[in-house]
Amino acid sequence: MVYKNVKGRIFDIQGYAVHDGPGIRTTVFTKGCPLRCLWCHSPESQHREFELGYLPVKCIGADVCQNACLDACPEGAVARDEPVEALDKSGLIQKAKIDREKCTNCLQCTEVCITKALYASGWDTTVDEVYERLLKDRGFFKDGGGVTISGGEPMAQFDFTCNLAKRLKDSGIHICLDTTGFAATELFAKILPYIDLFLYDIKHMDTKMHKKITGVGNEQILKNARFLAEHGAALQIRVPVIPKLTDKRANLRQTAEFCASLGDAVKLVQLLPYHKTGRMKYERLGWRYKLTNVEPPADEFMNNILAMFQSFGLNCQLH
Ligand code: SF4
Ligand code: SF4
Repeated sequence: MVYKNVKGRIFDIQGYAVHDGPGIRTTVFTKGCPLRCLWCHSPESQHREFELGYLPVKCIGADVCQNACLDACPEGAVARDEPVEALDKSGLIQKAKIDREKCTNCLQCTEVCITKALYASGWDTTVDEVYERLLKDRGFFKDGGGVTISGGEPMAQFDFTCNLAKRLKDSGIHICLDTTGFAATELFAKILPYIDLFLYDIKHMDTKMHKKITGVGNEQILKNARFLAEHGAALQIRVPVIPKLTDKRANLRQTAEFCASLGDAVKLVQLLPYHKTGRMKYERLGWRYKLTNVEPPADEFMNNILAMFQSFGLNCQLH
């Protein structure tokens, strides 16, 4: 199959993934997304540009590093934090402290930080580089596993995503595309032959509410879901259940109706209850987490919603 070795920007490759499609998989996370879901678990995926990430736990202290990051910063955005006990209890150290108001994301400090406490949230690569990396995991692709291309929104880097899918398809590797569905229908038509299973999000059935909680309306997303269903795609629909945002029973019932209307294309519906695990990532980027007062939905509520989806004849499970 003819493919092009185009460039792409990613922020992670995770092996042994068991929640990104069937079996055991390796997931490639592309950087950049047109949506801004309030509950986003991967804030580092949102912007196409690199950001400065900071993991204080990895910082060994400015004395040891001889002020490397402080000296590297042209904006004076890095200072010494209050003294704290070193991890090995050898005494007090002063870790780096970032002033996000002053930081311009130039990333010069990441080049001198030997422990990678300061890091860039992503890197540029090529289809061939990612392919070679993925091949190393091939022995783990068990029980229908393979590769998942996720994000961010992988369709936002269409050339990279489509050419990587072509390259993998040639090798007989099972490919999932984890998508928000927010891209031009022509692009979905082009990539369809190379994708074995679409992991497809339906976040809200009311377009005004969808725009309020994700930044975009849902028309294109619903249109693309139907297009894919009518053109032979296999869909695994993912429905986030976020208290106060998507969990109204009427909305979830409409979502179930919509999924059922897509017919046999829908192989599975997964209900994704809200969880808090993404919060730490906001801290690393120096961003404010907006859903501080939201708690995960109760098991009983999730089981009721599960039963409601199943009553539409859908193969549905809790994620
Ligand atoms: S990324 Fe921010 S903190 Fe780091 S050197 Fe540049 S301006 Fe300074
Ligand atoms: S952030 Fe990195 S370079 Fe700066 S003091 Fe900590 S370990 Fe050293």
